[in-house]
Amino acid sequence: MTGASRGIGRAIAERIASQGRIVVGVARSLDGLKDVGAAITAAGGRFEAQACDIGDSTALAQMVEQVAEKHGRLDILVNNAGITKDGLLMRMSDADFDDVIRVNLKSAFVACRAASRPMMKGRFGRIVNVGSVSGLMGNAGQVNYAAAKAGLVGMTKSIARELGSKGITANVVAPGFIETDMTAVLPPQVKEQALPNIPLKRFGTPTDIAAAIGWLTSDEGGYVTGQVIVVDGGMAM
Ligand code: NAP
Repeated sequence: MTGASRGIGRAIAERIASQGRIVVGVARSLDGLKDVGAAITAAGGRFEAQACDIGDSTALAQMVEQVAEKHGRLDILVNNAGITKDGLLMRMSDADFDDVIRVNLKSAFVACRAASRPMMKGRFGRIVNVGSVSGLMGNAGQVNYAAAKAGLVGMTKSIARELGSKGITANVVAPGFIETDMTAVLPPQVKEQALPNIPLKRFGTPTDIAAAIGWLTSDEGGYVTGQVIVVDGGMAM
């Protein structure tokens, strides 16, 4: 799973490890993964850290292949790592558009493609791509991010159709407003404006998202594929 060092990804890593899986957590540096690795190990779980910039397609594909080869199987892939480079349409640079598409969308394609071979071999797979309500509703200032997250939906549904007969499910979990480093940088007025639009009247936590992904990747979630599970306190309905 990617983006395991902090925020939503860290909670996903802890959750999946608590379900008895060996979690291979990816972030750009091994240093960033030390804390989550220590927490999982202390709780009796199994965690391996992998440093990889998922924007580098060659490195990402090689890493996924090596993980599958080392363990002789690959059961679950969670594409969670993501970035924002927000700006209004008129002022958005090509570089900011391309970077967000590469890290948030293309990386998921590359990882899914690399994971599909070992998953097909094992006739089992659970793919979860972490989307966003921005990809469903749109969001002013996020044309790049919303395009990438909307792209994940079409890609995931296509993968679900292609690989379903091999025992592989593919779903999107779309978080709403979750308290992490990504949202900590937003101006206070953005948060004040968001809260009244959330029927449950609170921002989400990484654990809220991890719970949905934990269920989808468990045996109980095995008959759900091609879906977008929105975990947002009711914000996008
Ligand atoms: P975050 O706190 O900013 O964490 C981002 C994670 O992605 C970190 O672990 C980071 O690791 C990793 N990462 C970023 N760029 C990477 C790269 N090039 N290569 C490898 N790893 C990279 O973000 P978050 O809020 O937990 O978000 C997680 C996911 O949920 C993202 O896909 C985000 O779009 C989505 N989401 C979040 C919210 C929200 O409200 N927070 C809402 C909707 C959707 P390092 O920095 O250690 O490399």
